[in-house]
Amino acid sequence: MNITITSNGMNISQDVLDAIVRFDNVVPVFSLQSMSELNQKLMGGDYHRTIETIEYLIEKEKKVRINSVYTNQSLEDFYGIIDYCIQHKVDRYSIGLYMDTNKSNKNVKKHSFNEARKLDEQLKQYVSSRHSESDFMVSLEGCMLYTGYPEYEHDIRSITQYEKIYYGCRAGRTKLEIYANGDVFPCICFENSIHPVSNITRNSLEEIWKNDEYMKILREGLPMNIECKKCGYSIICNGGCPAVRQQIHHSFKCEEKDPRCVLHSEAVK
Ligand code: SF4
Ligand code: SF4
Repeated sequence: MNITITSNGMNISQDVLDAIVRFDNVVPVFSLQSMSELNQKLMGGDYHRTIETIEYLIEKEKKVRINSVYTNQSLEDFYGIIDYCIQHKVDRYSIGLYMDTNKSNKNVKKHSFNEARKLDEQLKQYVSSRHSESDFMVSLEGCMLYTGYPEYEHDIRSITQYEKIYYGCRAGRTKLEIYANGDVFPCICFENSIHPVSNITRNSLEEIWKNDEYMKILREGLPMNIECKKCGYSIICNGGCPAVRQQIHHSFKCEEKDPRCVLHSEAVK
């Protein structure tokens, strides 16, 4: 089992830092949006404090990762983080798409899956031209990115069972989220749309994993509308993100298509 601890790295106590260093299966991931004042605007904190924590752990020979969420950054912001990662031997840099299910910041830009694809191509191009000697990988990560790649829709049928799990919705299938107060959600994106029924201070992780009613429903597979059923990606997509459905339609068991998907949209109301 791997445990990922995601943090802005600004207020981690020495005890916690020591534990992160000690346990090999704990992977620290630091949220960093820019190495400029933009980070303060987006995260509410000075990026230098995040960097201090990252460099402390690297000095202790701990592998660290950095994650950004694609919102208001320019290409130069991403290039700056890539340069830093390569220079300081950060293990991995990933970029996720902003999802407004958490409604945490109304002033951030949202990007479509097509824009995400374009960014991914630009960043890979930057690494290969500017850092051709490096094998560093920058990757765009997140659910449903495949909808920005319509040319692969029909190839998807030949993927393995593992790839289906990997690319599909992981909520309650391969992951859950535990909050600081013990509340457990199938995915962080449900945090404002469902009331958690499980809490790690009341039940064991195993009990929650087996019995949480939301996770059980998600594992059974969700209904899809007729257009999604015809889509090649439906074998991993199931009509889109259930947290988005929950937010918009107040039920993740409805058949409505995820409105962010641009595939087949001409046929779907
Ligand atoms: S609920 Fe949505 S964001 Fe969360 S893992 Fe599933 S598809 Fe992804
Ligand atoms: S939401 Fe529907 S149309 Fe879009 S990728 Fe998923 S299954 Fe296909």
